[in-house]
Amino acid sequence: MSQIPTFSHMPADIGLQRALERTPAEIVQEITASGLKGRGGAGFSTGTKWALAAEAPSDQKFILCNADEGEPGTFKDRVILQEHADLVFEGMTIAALAVGAKEGILFLRGEYTYLRAHLEAVLQQRRSRHLLGEDILGFQPGFDIRIFMGAGAYICGEETGLIECLEGFRGEPRNRPPYPVHQGFLDRPSVVNNVETLAWAACILQKGAAWFRKVGTEMSTGIKIFSISGDCERPGVFEFPMGITVRELLRNVGGENARAVQIGGASGQCIPASQFDRAIAFEDIPTGGSVIIFGPQRDMLDVIENFLGFFADESCGQCTPCRLGNRKLLEGVKMLKAGTCSMAYLNELCALGETMMIASKCGLGQSSPCAFLSVVRNFREELMGRAHPLVHA
Ligand code: NAD
Ligand code: SF4
Repeated sequence: MSQIPTFSHMPADIGLQRALERTPAEIVQEITASGLKGRGGAGFSTGTKWALAAEAPSDQKFILCNADEGEPGTFKDRVILQEHADLVFEGMTIAALAVGAKEGILFLRGEYTYLRAHLEAVLQQRRSRHLLGEDILGFQPGFDIRIFMGAGAYICGEETGLIECLEGFRGEPRNRPPYPVHQGFLDRPSVVNNVETLAWAACILQKGAAWFRKVGTEMSTGIKIFSISGDCERPGVFEFPMGITVRELLRNVGGENARAVQIGGASGQCIPASQFDRAIAFEDIPTGGSVIIFGPQRDMLDVIENFLGFFADESCGQCTPCRLGNRKLLEGVKMLKAGTCSMAYLNELCALGETMMIASKCGLGQSSPCAFLSVVRNFREELMGRAHPLVHA
């Protein structure tokens, strides 16, 4: 029994057949009309991304599937690849038809090496059925997909770090713009989409934009796949409509006693119980689908110490705000736990966190202070009790 019922009910490759009956502009139009937004977390319009790549003047374009799922608490792409790889490859092929790409690459997280044999077998089967290769069900030009193994660096999940890595360089993010749709892999227009986004694209071509829009909110359409972990009765992979409140989600997984929930992985926001009626949607609490639940026994300082330790290790070190900022925040949390951090210093650390969000070069440094800042904002009373008593500015 699949952990993702909607994907299980999609007959194979109907979406691709429908795409082959349409012009590239019509495919992009269907995706745009569905309102599909990037399921990796950032929520950029998939239709806009495909339209920009389609318009880019080049005879060589690429479809890159970002399967470097490395955000702490995130494991839904692993399940999608394990159970519904055909749907992901179908989505990549539809994207290729839409933008005019002949080559696709699935960038697979190093820790998911065990999935490779299965994915290669699915690719081979698709080639033998003419769903990949020199022609697609008799239509020219063809399209093929290869798998590239990551080596375990979180930063290669950042799209330009991923592209650098594909080109054989260290996975260090580039400045954007130019965005990959204009100048990506080998400086050619490249669509970088998350695993889940591509699977939904295949479903949308099969069922239509109106079907996708039936659930969710006006600004956040469709279903979202969640990775749910932590202090609840039923952790795992679930599908819920976009716009679900935190409270409803907790009720579904047996996590009603939570004192806080981290939404969007370690780089997301820490939501306290007083805000559980907020909606999980791009217009309220955005997410790539990771939800980590903290029960009443959890010390929120342990939580942010763990996250900041992760970011301090995974920072590529290219820019100062991120390289040093994560270490300073981590040091501050350790001081708070030891009772040697004053409230005045904690306020300075918050200013540092805000600066990192503005001055860091890529998403890692721009979002790594989020958990720290939201814990300080939402659990201030509690932290005041643990700050050094002499200076309470
Ligand atoms: P972003 O908002 O800068 O970009 C999102 C996407 O839209 C990118 O593909 C980008 O190229 C494209 N884009 C944005 N503006 C564009 C423009 N003007 N023209 C053309 N294309 C444009 O976000 P990001 O820094 O790429 O990603 C950060 C997000 O990734 C965070 O929200 C975080 O939640 C998520 N994330 C996910 C994981 C995971 O494991 N799934 C890990 C780390 C981070
Ligand atoms: Fe590297 Fe961090 Fe700067 Fe991103 S923000 S480029 S991870 S140092």
